[in-house]
Amino acid sequence: MSRVFVGLGSNLAEPEQQISNALQAIEAIIDTHISATSSLYVSRPMGPQDQPSYVNAVVELQTDLPPVKFLHCLQKIELDHGRERKAERWGPRTLDLDILLFSDQVIDSKELTVPHYGMKQREFVLYPLHEIASDLTLPCGTKLTSMLNNCPLNGLEKLPYK
Ligand code: ATP
Ligand code: MG
Ligand code: MG
Repeated sequence: MSRVFVGLGSNLAEPEQQISNALQAIEAIIDTHISATSSLYVSRPMGPQDQPSYVNAVVELQTDLPPVKFLHCLQKIELDHGRERKAERWGPRTLDLDILLFSDQVIDSKELTVPHYGMKQREFVLYPLHEIASDLTLPCGTKLTSMLNNCPLNGLEKLPYK
């Protein structure tokens, strides 16, 4: 069993519903069980600013799948939920599922970089992650709390629980 953290994001086609559907789809991945889910957060878009705000969350899960197989399951869920791959980087999308951490593994392959390369700077990853795993330390030894201290909220807001 590996302890995995996944970051979810959506800014099209009813983002809150997209995140909720994605959680169900993740729970349905073979040999995989969600063990914690953060609140939903609203964040400012990265990159192009002429797009709607994002809704984000982070989940903790346990899986028996190896990392690349697990990535392919997440990519299938993205496509099943209307994700279109466009040339523009960080453009609007119905669903983005990124592997943040995969136990204490460090992976740097063509398809997969773990820990996720952007997680240390992204408020919409660090704050939800802290909500469900406040004492986390990255494989490099950096503590989540110290990353948070260096990461302004940048307008991030927690959505009220529904
Ligand atoms: P960013 O990676 O900056 O958050 P993005 O999520 O919009 O941007 P995508 O278009 O979803 O980028 O993914 C681009 C590629 O990133 C994918 O084809 C995938 O192979 C690769 N990738 C590398 N590391 C990861 C990871 N940890 N989780 C998900 N995808 C990854
Ligand atoms: Mg992403
Ligand atoms: Mg992605």
